[in-house]
Amino acid sequence: MKIFKFGGASVKSASAVKNVAEIIGQYNDNIVIVVSAMGKVTNLLEELVRNYFFNQKKKKQNIFNEFKNYHLAIIEELFGEGCVPERVAKLFSQLEEKTNSSPGENYDFEYDQIIYFGELFSTTIISEYFLSIKKNIHWVDVKECIKTDNLHRAANVNWELSKKSIKEVFSFSGTNLYITQGFIGSTEEGVPTSLGREGSDFTAAILGNALDAKDVTIWKDVPGVLNADPKLIQPTQKLNELSYREAIEMAHSGAKVIHPKTIKPLQNKDIPLWVKSFVDPEAEGTLIHPVGYKLELTPVYIIKQEQVLITLSPSDFSFVGIDDIQDVFTHFPGVRFRVNMFQQSAIDLNLVIDHPEFGLDDIIADLSKNYEVKYNTGLELVTIRYYTDEVVDKQIKGRKVYIEQKSRKTARLVLK
Ligand code: ADP
Ligand code: ASP
Ligand code: MG
Repeated sequence: MKIFKFGGASVKSASAVKNVAEIIGQYNDNIVIVVSAMGKVTNLLEELVRNYFFNQKKKKQNIFNEFKNYHLAIIEELFGEGCVPERVAKLFSQLEEKTNSSPGENYDFEYDQIIYFGELFSTTIISEYFLSIKKNIHWVDVKECIKTDNLHRAANVNWELSKKSIKEVFSFSGTNLYITQGFIGSTEEGVPTSLGREGSDFTAAILGNALDAKDVTIWKDVPGVLNADPKLIQPTQKLNELSYREAIEMAHSGAKVIHPKTIKPLQNKDIPLWVKSFVDPEAEGTLIHPVGYKLELTPVYIIKQEQVLITLSPSDFSFVGIDDIQDVFTHFPGVRFRVNMFQQSAIDLNLVIDHPEFGLDDIIADLSKNYEVKYNTGLELVTIRYYTDEVVDKQIKGRKVYIEQKSRKTARLVLK
């Protein structure tokens, strides 16, 4: 049994959906396909949530229309003019009804009540398409299986409950092909939650673990894991194989190609993870698996943009102690603030965070009550695994360096 995960880019248009069907057609195995929202739909839904929550009626309507027209264009190409499958029409009404209701007070909760529509649309459209070409497929609402706590937007999986229902639902009786959503789940009471942006890779790993998959493949718009994001650095080199550990290091440093939580559930059961190209499905890709020998890797670059460096010094210049550090972290609640780097000197603390969607000014104001605060925005955090002095110098050249950290294998630079 295999798990295939298709991300937004792989289902962003009608021809992309047809390509997915062709890829699936090459395999005779039992398969579960996990699919993300189409194209950049989750970004659009985030905008919809914002305008819904802050009651921007006109903007909200425009975004809803954009969302609808985007999907309708794909539907028309797949099924013909005016042929909207009934299940999809129903979803449009449900989303519209939700966005016309009054929002509650908890932003993250409301986010999770809207964001899942992206995945529901994509999987429903694709399963209807498969059925229309006489390919037997079984659609599953993953919210029924992935059970989580109620930490909205960053929900934690209840493994015990989830494994049990995953095994029940994906029993492969009467079908050898399932389609389901990534990224979303629900509480024990059935309230929708989400696992964090880009979480569909993680869903594929959860299903892989629970179902003891032979392997998991995430299909991407790149030939595999490269030694850098090709959108930011050229030329790049494909890494043919990686250990789980190396993949975890890369993902945690911010290599967008794999969600950081994906590796562990697979590593726990020695399940191989393939990263392959949906553009060139025959090509080998990257294999992430147990590696019992030393891999010789070239320098691997991981770049995180839109970083904020916050420097705190206690107002009385007292030594920064463990209490200060603990206190500082309480100002960065997990969901909206991610601390990517931390450095302490005798009198100050440096934190590098992702520029949050909102709330940075409030945090700065709050911290300013107890500390002297300086901050810079628009920075890059560059991590170089297997660095050499030469490649570090090349990165730094002509740029302002805010922080430089080097350990045995890894150099980390905060640059403007
Ligand atoms: P998905 O469609 O599954 O959501 P993503 O867009 O999240 O896929 O991930 C694929 C993208 O990850 C690539 O288009 C590439 O720009 C980016 N990326 C970042 N780092 C790497 C890397 N080291 N190797 C390959 N791709 C990378
Ligand atoms: N659709 C979600 C997102 O864009 C989840 C995913 O694609 O992995 O973040
Ligand atoms: Mg993605």
